Amino acid sequence: MQVILIGRGTEPVPGQVVFNSRGVSAQHAKAVIDPAKNTIVLEDLGSTNGTFVNGFRIKRKSISHNDIILLADQRLNLQQIFDAARTTRENPNDYSVEFAKLQGVWDNYQLLLKQARSNNGMDSFMTVCLIVAPALLLGPIAGVVVGTAAGLGGGAMLGSSIGMAARELFTKNKSSKTQNLVTEIENDFKIHYVCPKCSRSLYGFPYEYYKKQKRCVQCSAIWIKS
Ligand SMILES: [Zn+2]
Repeated sequence: MQVILIGRGTEPVPGQVVFNSRGVSAQHAKAVIDPAKNTIVLEDLGSTNGTFVNGFRIKRKSISHNDIILLADQRLNLQQIFDAARTTRENPNDYSVEFAKLQGVWDNYQLLLKQARSNNGMDSFMTVCLIVAPALLLGPIAGVVVGTAAGLGGGAMLGSSIGMAARELFTKNKSSKTQNLVTEIENDFKIHYVCPKCSRSLYGFPYEYYKKQKRCVQCSAIWIKS
């Protein structure tokens, strides 16, 4: 647990985020970092002009990378909170709190990919039920219309081959949609799955892999304290 005070001031203060702005109160808000729960909770300290998260005035709220945070008219981002937190650590190269956040980024990515792919699987199954099954039922009728020479067997074959073609078309269309979704998930993941110090991309290997490395090979930031 680490508490970061946020308020007005003209000089940087270790362990605090300072804004040189009249709208910001001297003791405007505080951020509580909980590395165990992997959360950051922002709390307004009775400021004059308020603390806002995504347009809503808040008293106390858990915040994440995607939130737009304003203290009066000043934009606050998570990086400022992390930077202030680091100034009070024994080792300024200690990025273990920020690195721990990547576990959630990785887990979420795996979950979203799995969902995107299983949705596709289910939709293919539905396509078989909706397209192929009626085609098989219609097959004998189509067979009669086409000609008695073809007989019931020919009709069934005709019906099912239409069904197969339709299914193939549907599956292709569906898989390109899934591909788009997967690309979106990948792109968002690539933005956040980076070294918290040098922003080097960590894409391509699981969180556990980097956890074992303990340090960034590029900037030597400490990821895991030993
Ligand atoms: Zn690095």
